Amino acid sequence: MTTKAQQYLTHFRNIGIAAHIDAGKTTTTERILYYTGRTHNIGEVHDGAATMDWMEQERERGITITAAATTAKWKRSGTDEEYVVNIIDTPGHVDFTIEVERSMRVLDGAVAVFDSSQGVEPQSETVWRQADRYGVPRIAFSNKMDKTGASFELVLNDIKERLGAVAAPIQYPMGAESEFKGIIDIVRQRAHFYTNDLGTDIDETDVPAEYADKVAEIRAQLIEAAAEVDEDLMMMYLEGEEPSVEQLVAAIRKGTIEKRIFPVLCGSALKNKGVQLLLDAVIDYLPSPLEVPAIKGKIEDSEDTIEFPADPEGKLAALAFKIMADPYVGRLTFVRIYSGTLQSGSYVYNASKEKRERVGRLLKMHANSREEVTELKAGELGAVIGLKDAGTGNTLIGDGDDKVLLESIDVPEPVIKL
Ligand code: GDP
Repeated sequence: MTTKAQQYLTHFRNIGIAAHIDAGKTTTTERILYYTGRTHNIGEVHDGAATMDWMEQERERGITITAAATTAKWKRSGTDEEYVVNIIDTPGHVDFTIEVERSMRVLDGAVAVFDSSQGVEPQSETVWRQADRYGVPRIAFSNKMDKTGASFELVLNDIKERLGAVAAPIQYPMGAESEFKGIIDIVRQRAHFYTNDLGTDIDETDVPAEYADKVAEIRAQLIEAAAEVDEDLMMMYLEGEEPSVEQLVAAIRKGTIEKRIFPVLCGSALKNKGVQLLLDAVIDYLPSPLEVPAIKGKIEDSEDTIEFPADPEGKLAALAFKIMADPYVGRLTFVRIYSGTLQSGSYVYNASKEKRERVGRLLKMHANSREEVTELKAGELGAVIGLKDAGTGNTLIGDGDDKVLLESIDVPEPVIKL
């Protein structure tokens, strides 16, 4: 049961974006930050050229995508519901396998980006296995549909054959390569044509007649896959009844979180509407912190473990997952709060180092700004200034609480060479 204090968490998504080098992770991340920033008037933009200026500027200042966790806000298209999307940076290079694993621990879901002209590449397989090990639910984005050689079928086949996953296309491309025009949302049976303007509203049209048969075929398979994870839907399926959009979304969401369905989207991150539709899918199909298993902690001197459900009113349990040196404020310790509330100026106990530490200031990192906050609540990610001893993978608990160590990643994995 969700208490009133936990209610905000239903509108939280803590995600990572994983990809083979060159598949488009940077572009996807930058565009997400751009469009989420834009809905909140962080950047005033009037024409197409300004997008690039904004990104260039950010690149020069070097803060946008270098933050280990960036907080963005997104209003689900077609609704007034606003969501907090925390994007956790997952290092893109295989040499940082241990860092990838560490970041896997702090995210609740991931977007796997593939290059539609390349299919599933070796490094994607590596990250995939890591995500499997940490039980991270995923959706896929078959990017670069506009590139020569792009094939959605190639990506779908590779996901099935190389990754052994049940690929469930929830979108279908209209055209490919230079003829790529947009996508069809299979669940809602609506077409979205890409545009050149920078609007965040997503215009829909009916499915063009030429795609009707293909969409009907894929949708039937999707309903069948969804029925496998949802009894009500199975009953309807057997009776030959058509599920509502809400029922279908809920069943696919359940299947995604249980890792029995793997929704696959397609498009182009470089073009307008590419990442907006991806963000909508993140909201629809990836879990909130309340929908993933609670993190466990090992009690000192015993074999017993204790669970920390995402609850701002629970005992403090946080994990430091990245230390960065900042030229202005010094040492930044990025933390994820699993349970309880971390207050600026308070004392915490670093259970890994067995040291009491004082929390200085707290920051939330946005695309082009930093926000100083007085507290970070369960489910939130941010940076702490002032922790002297905390290292990556350290557990922070309340000062005076019984000592526990959160499940973490202590054993380095061998570096995988491609
Ligand atoms: P990363 O290594 O995964 O971070 O990949 P980048 O985001 O840096 O993208 C690699 C290259 O692919 C860059 O030159 C991008 O401009 C290009 N790219 C990214 N997305 C798309 C896309 O949707 N279509 C096309 N044609 N190129 C893309």
